[in-house]
Amino acid sequence: MNCRHCGAPLRHTFLDLGFAPPSNAYLKAEDLNRPETYFPLKIRVCDQCWLVQTEDYAKADALFSPDYAYFSSTSAGWLAHAQRYAQTMTQRLGLGAGSFVIEVAANDGYLLKNFVASGIPCLGIEPTASTAAAAEAIGVPVLREFFGEALGRRLAEEGRQADLIAGNNVYAHVPDINDFTRGLAAALKPGGTITLEFPHLLRLIEHAQFDTVYHEHFSYLSIHAVQRIFEAAGLRIYDVEELPTHGGSVRVYGCHAAAAFAAQPEVERILRLEVEGGLLDLSTYQAFQARADQVKDALLGFLLEQKRLGKTVAAYGAAAKGNTLLNYAGVKPDLLPFVCDAAPAKQGKYLPGSHIPILEPRALAERRPDYVLILPWNIAAEVREQNKYLADQGTRFVTAVPKLEVQ
Ligand SMILES: [Zn+2]
Repeated sequence: MNCRHCGAPLRHTFLDLGFAPPSNAYLKAEDLNRPETYFPLKIRVCDQCWLVQTEDYAKADALFSPDYAYFSSTSAGWLAHAQRYAQTMTQRLGLGAGSFVIEVAANDGYLLKNFVASGIPCLGIEPTASTAAAAEAIGVPVLREFFGEALGRRLAEEGRQADLIAGNNVYAHVPDINDFTRGLAAALKPGGTITLEFPHLLRLIEHAQFDTVYHEHFSYLSIHAVQRIFEAAGLRIYDVEELPTHGGSVRVYGCHAAAAFAAQPEVERILRLEVEGGLLDLSTYQAFQARADQVKDALLGFLLEQKRLGKTVAAYGAAAKGNTLLNYAGVKPDLLPFVCDAAPAKQGKYLPGSHIPILEPRALAERRPDYVLILPWNIAAEVREQNKYLADQGTRFVTAVPKLEVQ
């Protein structure tokens, strides 16, 4: 396989998690006696442009299960983040009734509704029918298509280039990152700004967040790699902000190569952090598998020990990252009999691969396990706070990443 950005042969493995089912392929009871599809989950690194990427194995569309869609508006924290973003960008770029904002992967309109409310014309691009319908229902105009160069050019021909193009947690998920980036360039006005938010590869490596690896996530991005991808499409990065979301994300500000935006000092600072963090050094990537294995082995050791001692362990949060961790560790219901999740759409189903049943959070109160393993470590503090009554009754909380911690 060759690099999806620069075409160089991919000779180095960053992480090999064996085989796993798609992380969002939650199972119904009747699925449990049917075969389950597993795909290789192997991540490679390009030693020419440093793009970290999934190995090709199957058509991307085979992975997206039609009956499960994530609605961004279900997270209060994310809604607040989107509202702050809209305010900040409106001020910083001086947006108004004569401006035009495009969001790629507009989901259920969680972000663009803020621009609609301010009277700023906007357009969401969203191929998933259920979320697109939800966006339209709250007054956000939506184009139900996949975004890429062809659509970017069409928007330009129709005179619908944007002053601002937003892409939150979509850039790492696109299979053809060059085509997508050329689409951004085509759909952007000469003086327009692109903002993209994605998890920062630097933090993934630093905090051993190997459980954020899953098939639908095609790229693991550094600013160095994005800078090269932007340049190849006639764009440049003029600012970067670090964000706490998803265990450490970045927001990149891009513009046309010839636009007047002055490069901000943050760009150089974060590029320097990446150099210091070893992101231009092959050995950093080659050392990552051992760290993932340490996390996996420690979790497995803990679960086996509790079983031997006759203690009970349950999990909280049926999130994608939990599926990656549990499937890599080979954990099954004998070690972890159930997981609780607040999302009604997941309750009554089973985790892909491990087949651990998903129950309502009240199962924790009823069964009072000795330990609760919090799978989405990024919201561990929130989960502990919400379930304080369990700690008062002697239950202890556990997180596995970046290292096993019992509190
Ligand atoms: Zn490359």
